[in-house]
Amino acid sequence: MSRDYPLEKIRNIGIIAHIDAGKTTVTERILFFTGISHKIGEVHEGAAIMDWMEQERERGITITSAATTCYWHPTDNPEAESRINLIDTPGHIDFTVEVQRSLRVLDGAVIVFDGVAGVEPQSETVWRQADKFNMPRLCFVNKLDRTGANFKEDLASIEKKLTKKAVPVQLPIGTEEKFVGVVDLLKMQAYYFADDINQPFKEGEIPEEMKAEVDDYHGILVERIAAEKSELLEKYLNNEELSIDELRAGLRQAVLDYNLVPVLCGSALKNKGIHLLLDAIHYYLPNPADLPPVQGTDLKGEPAERRTGDDEPFSSLVFKIASDPYVGTLAYFRVYSGVLKQGSYVLNPRTGKKERIGRLLLMHSNDRKEIDAVWAGGIAATVGLKDTRTGDTLCDENNPIILESIEFPEPVISVRVEPKAKTDQDKLDAALRRLSDEDPTLRISRDPDTNEMIISGMGELHLDIIVDRIRREFNVEANVGRPEVSYRETITIPAEGRGQYIHQSGGRGQYGDVCLKLAPRERSEGFKFNNAIKGGAIPQEYIPAVEKGVREAMEEGVVAGYPVIDVEATVYDGSYHDVDSSEMAFKIAAKRAFQEVSRQAQPVLLEPIMKVEVVIPEEFFGDVMGDLSARRGKIIDTSSREKVKVIDVEVPLAEMFGYATTLRSLTKGRGNFTMEFKEYFEVPRHIAEEIVTGRKS
Ligand code: GDP
Repeated sequence: MSRDYPLEKIRNIGIIAHIDAGKTTVTERILFFTGISHKIGEVHEGAAIMDWMEQERERGITITSAATTCYWHPTDNPEAESRINLIDTPGHIDFTVEVQRSLRVLDGAVIVFDGVAGVEPQSETVWRQADKFNMPRLCFVNKLDRTGANFKEDLASIEKKLTKKAVPVQLPIGTEEKFVGVVDLLKMQAYYFADDINQPFKEGEIPEEMKAEVDDYHGILVERIAAEKSELLEKYLNNEELSIDELRAGLRQAVLDYNLVPVLCGSALKNKGIHLLLDAIHYYLPNPADLPPVQGTDLKGEPAERRTGDDEPFSSLVFKIASDPYVGTLAYFRVYSGVLKQGSYVLNPRTGKKERIGRLLLMHSNDRKEIDAVWAGGIAATVGLKDTRTGDTLCDENNPIILESIEFPEPVISVRVEPKAKTDQDKLDAALRRLSDEDPTLRISRDPDTNEMIISGMGELHLDIIVDRIRREFNVEANVGRPEVSYRETITIPAEGRGQYIHQSGGRGQYGDVCLKLAPRERSEGFKFNNAIKGGAIPQEYIPAVEKGVREAMEEGVVAGYPVIDVEATVYDGSYHDVDSSEMAFKIAAKRAFQEVSRQAQPVLLEPIMKVEVVIPEEFFGDVMGDLSARRGKIIDTSSREKVKVIDVEVPLAEMFGYATTLRSLTKGRGNFTMEFKEYFEVPRHIAEEIVTGRKS
């Protein structure tokens, strides 16, 4: 069997944006215009093709990371083609983890901006995440048809807030209602938009009054491309003309190296600029083989890597588990190396189990195609995997590799849920299990005292959607409690001590004895366990039980029963009994040791602090600032944009419930805010006391 499609023609990309910037519209237009070459005449007007989840459409936001395959022939070279795998990325900040997850499998991205608002906070957050991967990207300044749109200001805000690597490759001809075309600064060609859906633009002359400016911007573009490559620079300095092909190749390399970021513009809603954006994806974004080998570890934890190639052992990463109304549970995965054929077996190193690959599907925007195999660099979905979660590696059983797993943040907010009808308890449990397999940021737990189910996630909206899905997809009506903050606990000084579990009178005895040192770690460093036992004071075989006991103890801290984070635990001494010692005895002893020692280690309560941006008309500034300080807000910065004030502030999540309503009434409905989790921080003492009392009463 040979490859179904050349590797160098594949583009695995995502479209990323602040909510409302137009990601859904851009995506729809791309799917529409790429579909047209196959199915002329089929019109999907307005239908959000990727938003097949009902409530996403209602809420107007996109949560899933489904992948869709389409094909593009560049407008100036219809012979050429690329296969674009579009990985849908979520727009709402509650779902940044979904963005992170999809970023992990993208080779390049298009970042969409609102031409009126410029760079907004979420774009900044996602931009920094993409920086971690040095991800090649293009900027698309959308909505230039809107009143107040200003391409130059948007460009300036990209340069100021995001990167100096940005370089315009287009200039708009006119803006707002007079936005009639763009000038391609590389080809020095003007394009005018037309209303014809089959041919939405025509080539034309650069307007006389723009010529000087276009020359300047062209000069800057050529100079910046030339500066990236010595052969080009030499020609450039000798005043030799650089051909379009040379400039394109130079720009492509600079984009791949993440040294330049081309900026394009358009209006997705009005079908303006989408063709040229697709051309830019074809010409400038990487194919999978352009990128360095993927890194991972073997089963012993030693570093391992795989090059993108069909001849390498198979490796892939599952980036999305989704329910599809027609085929059931779909696992979307990205193949890094090797080939996966239908009917073959793969290893999931997390579970140690082999799974058979039944059907393989390539997802198009309007249908799905069954395929025999998926090759290096490809993206596909499979049905019927039993125990596979988002973030799992699937690989060749004879050449196992664990690709860097995706790190998920701690959930910050919880609600209690119970079925309205007691008989629905099993259905609710099953629904929650399914949903948490799909979404690693969703945690399910049970209140040990009341036996109620608690679901925890990344924000109120995140949990709202989960509850909604329980009702719609699993037909369970649930009573939902008030949102509660997910507090954490930690220790602040090192301490050490002992825990024992010894019963030796009558029958078989119990003997576990553990000495433990605890030390605080920095925020989000996580838990670390060390074994410093010398001379066999505790036999090696019981050490895993000691670690298990410590981990169990950490699930309920000594301050108020919240999970303990960021602690280093070292077992350094203890004793055992030849007959009476058991794993269970050591586990209980370790649990007791942890509780005992953490009481001496000045344990504290931690609360989630949110990074909040509030945007308000100037006249409400005083009232809004006053309210924020009453909410224990720490003002980080205040600035002015055109007629509005922007307040950057850090506020404990506990103080943010109902903020949307308050802000609305303080600003007569004219204020806006966004928030995202920043870090866990110590709760001030008097407030901690209230929480502890409330929890224990
Ligand atoms: P998303 O939240 O980023 O997915 O944004 P959407 O694509 O849902 O767009 C948000 C709103 O902006 C919708 O009402 C769109 O119709 C509108 N919109 C999207 N693109 C444009 C555009 O180019 N011009 C104008 N005027 N509105 C647009």
